[in-house]
Amino acid sequence: MTDAVRHLNKSGRLGRFYIDGAWCGPGGRDRASLVNPATETVIAEIPLGSAEDVERAVSAARRAFPGWFRTPPAERAALLGRVHALVLERSELIAQALTTEMGAAITYARRAQVPLAAEHLRVARDNLADFPFISQRGKTAILREAIGVCSLITPWNWPLYQITAKVGPALAAGCTVVLKPSELSPLSALLFAEVLDQAGCPPGVFNLVNGTGPVVGEALASHPEVDMVSITGSTRAGVLVAQAAASTVKRVAQELGGKSPNIVLPDADLARCVPLGVAAAMRNLGQSCSAPTRMLVPRARLDEVEALAAAAAGEFVVGDPLLEATTHGPIANRAQFDRVQMMIETGIGEGAKLVIGGPGRPEGLRSGFYARPTIFSEVRRDMMIAREEIFGPVLAILPYDTLEEAIEIANDTVYGLGAHVQGTDMEKVRDVASRIRAGQVHLNSPDWDPNAPFGGYKRSGNGREYGREGMEEYLETKAVLGFYS
Ligand code: NAD
Repeated sequence: MTDAVRHLNKSGRLGRFYIDGAWCGPGGRDRASLVNPATETVIAEIPLGSAEDVERAVSAARRAFPGWFRTPPAERAALLGRVHALVLERSELIAQALTTEMGAAITYARRAQVPLAAEHLRVARDNLADFPFISQRGKTAILREAIGVCSLITPWNWPLYQITAKVGPALAAGCTVVLKPSELSPLSALLFAEVLDQAGCPPGVFNLVNGTGPVVGEALASHPEVDMVSITGSTRAGVLVAQAAASTVKRVAQELGGKSPNIVLPDADLARCVPLGVAAAMRNLGQSCSAPTRMLVPRARLDEVEALAAAAAGEFVVGDPLLEATTHGPIANRAQFDRVQMMIETGIGEGAKLVIGGPGRPEGLRSGFYARPTIFSEVRRDMMIAREEIFGPVLAILPYDTLEEAIEIANDTVYGLGAHVQGTDMEKVRDVASRIRAGQVHLNSPDWDPNAPFGGYKRSGNGREYGREGMEEYLETKAVLGFYS
């Protein structure tokens, strides 16, 4: 048993939900087994919520809303500041929870999953310092008011990061929330609820109900007392949430799938950008919605790119996620492991050139959901591995002949979440960026920016998270005509 499971077991919170400022038992008897992806063994049982649990949580959030909505922004900022500090204080336990529930290498959990998650809380707090909740336009006052009770539904791939990207701005805006984390990654979410409790979050402002999408998620999306639902997950689940929400005309925010392109221009510094592109595609085992999994390269430089890409992937150390030397742990769960294996077989079947990796586990690993970092080259845009989100350590290299063709391939997708452009002529790089239909474009692999709005064009979703836009998502606009101040 890991420290995180031991900790939650000891307090009894592993079997509870957090509703109205108290830890309470589930209304029903359904349970799910939590499997450690590194060992394939069951490490805990968690209760799955019911519609009745959702009812209690939504009622608590509804009761808490008028009070929380009226708190001065500075008070909300103070709470977020305490939550931020406590997340950092408990970062080792949270990192271990993440490694246990979804297999992130412990070094990656410590270096990225936890600190980046904390950044969303810091940004949410800082946004309150000068946000214009009231502004005057002529004789009309424009008020930005919290939308109300929000359902927040999150996935397992960046469990805490996706939670703080919603809870931080929602609470900053003055909303009250009911969180349903992925049923596959409940540990970090329970630790986060402990943090909110310890930080003195008023009862009902933050509530957590664990459970499945079709039961708890659907109840949260359709509930008439919920004003907004925000989901991060697959496009499939995003559509179901929007359908469930439609009859109550609530706001729907969706952060969904992606198949992001990485355009390498002819003048790019290959020795720099290819290893960085491979690392970005394989980060978190490729289980990132905005992973640049299609690398578009000039045909004349394909051999060079393949050699550099293989060398970069050959450096990865796949194995026990608790070892410090490990760069990549197992895939997060069996369903995803099976899908990744199927897609690697598909790439081979479609005739793509296997540069490195392939099906099965890396040498020496006989159990655990470990996959081989895999790179295909000579991939055609009509191949399934170029079109479908794989959500695993699989990179497709597609050659192009002209810049026009590269831009056309980049945009030839139902998704539009992220994109990358590499090159030395910055005027050209910026021009290419302006022609890509995606919510975020990265030029020459810059650092992550928690203030850069994130979200999708097309079927990658609706709405934006992170930064100021992330908070605006949770606000209504009220115009008060006549004289206000
Ligand atoms: P998923 O869609 O299966 O689940 C995501 C969440 O939605 C979970 O909490 C799940 O319980 C819930 N859910 C599922 N069906 C539901 C329903 N009918 N009603 C309400 N809720 C429902 O996705 P996943 O397997 O957890 O995550 C992987 C997917 O998420 C990938 O496709 C990835 O691209 C996407 N993703 C997107 C972003 C982004 O910001 N755009 C970030 C991370 C992951």
